[in-house]
Amino acid sequence: MTEQQTTNDALFDRAKGAIPGGVNSPVRAFGSVGGTPRFIRSASGPYITDVEGVERVDLVASWGPALLGHAHPAIVQAVQEAASRGLSFGAPTGGEVDLAEEITRRVPIAERVRLVSTGTEATMTAIRLARGATGRDLLIKFDGHYHGHSDALLVAAGSGLATLAMPGSSGIPDAIAHTTIVLPYDDEHAVEAAFAEHGDRIAAIIVEAAPANIGLIAPRPGFHAFLARTAHAHGALLISDEVLTGFRVHPSGMWGIEGTTGDDAPDILTFGKVVGGGMPLAALGGRRDVMDLLAPLGPVYQAGTLSGNPLAVAAGLTQLRLADDAVYARLDEVADAITAGLSDALTAEGVEHAIPRVGSLFSLAFAASAPRTYDDAKAQAIFRHAPFFHAMLDGGVALPPSLFESWFVTASHDDAAIERVLAALPAAARAAAAA
Ligand code: PMP
Repeated sequence: MTEQQTTNDALFDRAKGAIPGGVNSPVRAFGSVGGTPRFIRSASGPYITDVEGVERVDLVASWGPALLGHAHPAIVQAVQEAASRGLSFGAPTGGEVDLAEEITRRVPIAERVRLVSTGTEATMTAIRLARGATGRDLLIKFDGHYHGHSDALLVAAGSGLATLAMPGSSGIPDAIAHTTIVLPYDDEHAVEAAFAEHGDRIAAIIVEAAPANIGLIAPRPGFHAFLARTAHAHGALLISDEVLTGFRVHPSGMWGIEGTTGDDAPDILTFGKVVGGGMPLAALGGRRDVMDLLAPLGPVYQAGTLSGNPLAVAAGLTQLRLADDAVYARLDEVADAITAGLSDALTAEGVEHAIPRVGSLFSLAFAASAPRTYDDAKAQAIFRHAPFFHAMLDGGVALPPSLFESWFVTASHDDAAIERVLAALPAAARAAAAA
């Protein structure tokens, strides 16, 4: 390779000639902040290094999976050992049983667990299961909630669609889009009205366990239990999407914080990100009677050539086994330090802001109070974000390139990494104030 080809811009130009938009997932593009996404050479602990050799503190953590930090030695070793025994068998392994049991141990209402490869597959399967269990077609989802890119769930979704201000995706048949009822989040009356009108046709409500794809919204205590009771009263199910929150906001995910049981609890939960330790692995779990409707026991079909892949299982299991109380305490400390520094820097420059938080997960909103709905999130001072983001990048900190995404800390963020974040904040706050 010539000098020219190794620069980030040259690589992005080549990427655009080979890959639509130069990226394999739209959230990686600097769609709302402008500029060229950084191509990554390597990452270790809290640091990520781009192809030009610039090292930054990473607060994206692969969008959540890297709970312990990048390239954790024990996870890398477990994956290497698994690889040496074979990459994929298409037959069951003991590790899959260990991982399913570990998920059930942490989240006992997930009485049975099926492993899949992506969060999208987990939520897609969960809604198929709910439809199979109830014999009904309709699904309730909330405005701005993101559950992956399957057809029925890509209606009024957050994440990359929010960043790119896309109302939805083309290519989704009307007949499928019309099976999804979109409601404003946090609104009991809207849920009651939907059930009053369509109650006997609704299979499930799906909700992000803590909405985190339009910025973070801390759920109002009792709201998700209300969703469960309302669904159950009408013979429908509640699917709690813990792909982002699972094993991150608490050892047992958002369910561990809410602690709901019985009628108040979700029937199906979906997991991803942390559960795969950085490898392509996700899961769904839930009530035994519902989960046992999956093939080969029941009539709801779901399958995967690489499901429960042994390398992915080794990574996920090793990460979960290492994620003890001390790890979660450290995650909280890191979040405490960064949120305090963030707020101080913005306050010093007189920039209106809110920092909603659940466990160690948080986001930044340029608004007087934390947004509660997608409309609130869209109404904030979004124009302040691009200069803030780029000042942080220049100051050696990689943030999610969108105000509609949450920030992810890792247990590997030591005091030196935190100091680097704090040192970058004042200039970024000035840039936000000047916008
Ligand atoms: N559900 C939620 C809540 C998510 O945040 C995401 C991804 N960010 C998904 C589902 C989809 O997961 P994946 O990208 O692995 O398909």
